[in-house]
Amino acid sequence: MDELEKLKKENEELKKMNDIKSDWISISTHGLRTSLSATKWILKMFLDKDFGSITSEQEGFMKKAYDSNERMLALVNDMLSVNHTQDAVMHMQYHFEEADILPLVDEVIFDFHGESFKKKVGVIFLRPPTPVALFKFDKNKVCVVLQNLIENAIKYSNAGDSVIVSVRDQEDKIILSVKDNGIGIPPVEKEHIFEKFFRATNAKEKDDIGSGLGLYTTKSIIENHGGTIWFESEIGQGTTFFFSLPKSPTETVATV
Ligand code: ADP
Repeated sequence: MDELEKLKKENEELKKMNDIKSDWISISTHGLRTSLSATKWILKMFLDKDFGSITSEQEGFMKKAYDSNERMLALVNDMLSVNHTQDAVMHMQYHFEEADILPLVDEVIFDFHGESFKKKVGVIFLRPPTPVALFKFDKNKVCVVLQNLIENAIKYSNAGDSVIVSVRDQEDKIILSVKDNGIGIPPVEKEHIFEKFFRATNAKEKDDIGSGLGLYTTKSIIENHGGTIWFESEIGQGTTFFFSLPKSPTETVATV
């Protein structure tokens, strides 16, 4: 093998290793963000005396923990955007395993308990009447999808609203949906909603914190499973995101 060939091979290997690293950062940061967010809202419940009064000394320590958690959240958000600038999501490795999707939905909803309580937006899981077939999917990636959709549904809802998550077993695929009664998506902006860094005007007004990366990542993950994502939305009435996952993903789908 001549010197040029050797360098090319080394370069390819380095690229592959870099992709694996980016994949790992992407998944870990999403997981970290959800856990930090769950902690934030639980601490906020203590600070707001939702569980009853606390001493001023306890409040002081609680506040320190809250502030420190906020700093970590900011850091994790930065890591997420930097990692995305390398389009890591397009090169992620997928690990398909046969699993039950229902416990995964339960777990993700549980992580939003504190946030849903504080924002007064209930998250309801409409369980299917019969068990859903086991099928092959990448659990960590589908977890990220559910986190993104539920996080958005809460974020773009108003106090007193409810978010409804449902799962349907339909022949060769599983269909999941996340429905809210929130701000909706303006008709002229609908076509851009899955674009990287895009945020609709009403979303920016409602909540100035957002990266416009969640739906971009979500769509890539679903498509890499051979599934599709779509939505229905009425401005001021609410939005429902649907996504399908095939029960038999083809091997080629996972390797992008
Ligand atoms: P963000 O961090 O801004 O929430 P996303 O990529 O998750 O980024 O979403 C992109 C944009 O899609 C949002 O800024 C918002 O305009 C719109 N959007 C997503 N989910 C909803 C929803 N449930 N209700 C209304 N608008 C939504």
